[in-house]
Amino acid sequence: MKKYSPSLLVVFYLHFSISDLGAQNQKSTRGIDADLAFAHVKKLVSFGPRPPGSPGIAQAQSHIASYLKKLNLQVEQQDFLATTPAGSVAMRNIVAKATGEKSQVIVLASHYDTKLMHGSLFVGANDGASSTGLLMELARVISQQRGIYPVWFVFFDGEEAQRDWTETDSLYGSRYFVEKLKGDGTAGKVKAMILLDMVGDKDLVLERDLSSTPWLLDLVIKSAYELGYGKHIATLPKAMTDDHIPFVRDGIPAVDLIDYNFGFDNLYWHSVNDTLDKVSPQSLKVTGEIVLRTLNKLEAK
Ligand SMILES: [Zn+2]
Repeated sequence: MKKYSPSLLVVFYLHFSISDLGAQNQKSTRGIDADLAFAHVKKLVSFGPRPPGSPGIAQAQSHIASYLKKLNLQVEQQDFLATTPAGSVAMRNIVAKATGEKSQVIVLASHYDTKLMHGSLFVGANDGASSTGLLMELARVISQQRGIYPVWFVFFDGEEAQRDWTETDSLYGSRYFVEKLKGDGTAGKVKAMILLDMVGDKDLVLERDLSSTPWLLDLVIKSAYELGYGKHIATLPKAMTDDHIPFVRDGIPAVDLIDYNFGFDNLYWHSVNDTLDKVSPQSLKVTGEIVLRTLNKLEAK
């Protein structure tokens, strides 16, 4: 542990008292099981690298879809051919729907592909698997009770660039999903979109993302503080480009829960060091609880 100056010590103890409050509040939220979420992450990582069109992602697809079906959710697949700098690539979004009383829906999302890294074994335990595993656990928890709003659990393919990140070489799944919503005339039905990405870091600090819809980001931050998780929210803002952008561009309220500092100076990000030992079940639980509390607030809005 680092040495703390007396003034920092005060801050340190303050965190503890807020955390105690969080422990009490946990009883009032529907429970995320950290071990179940982590087991999903482990399983996804066991499939090896999972870039679009790979044998690994095919295994991930059938695993995710069969799990969602076991939860008695309505599961749909969106298959499409993405035009990428590396040629046409077959991609698939997986969408599972939980019913609710209202007609507006809430979208919870994660990308489940991993970055294509030629010549290295990149398994994306944090970048791809952590948020996907947590989304599967959120689907279990939320499907157990009928909510006010229907919830769509959306697993995006092709978030990563197939060569180098540009506006057209990235976010394939989310761009396709929003285009489809627009085509169906259902984009207006989405009350809010909550995106999860890289949420497994042991040292979890979720960004105050400048690209997210401000009122929705405020709900997330408020939820985190109420749970005693204020220390998991960054102090300084950052602007993220992620799967929420196509939604924001279309006027759909969207927020990105991402920790974009993975390891010291983001050293583990997009590196072979993004392995299972870097993923913390507790960080998955913290993020999951923040999502559930945000959902409660959205229902009260
Ligand atoms: Zn990535």
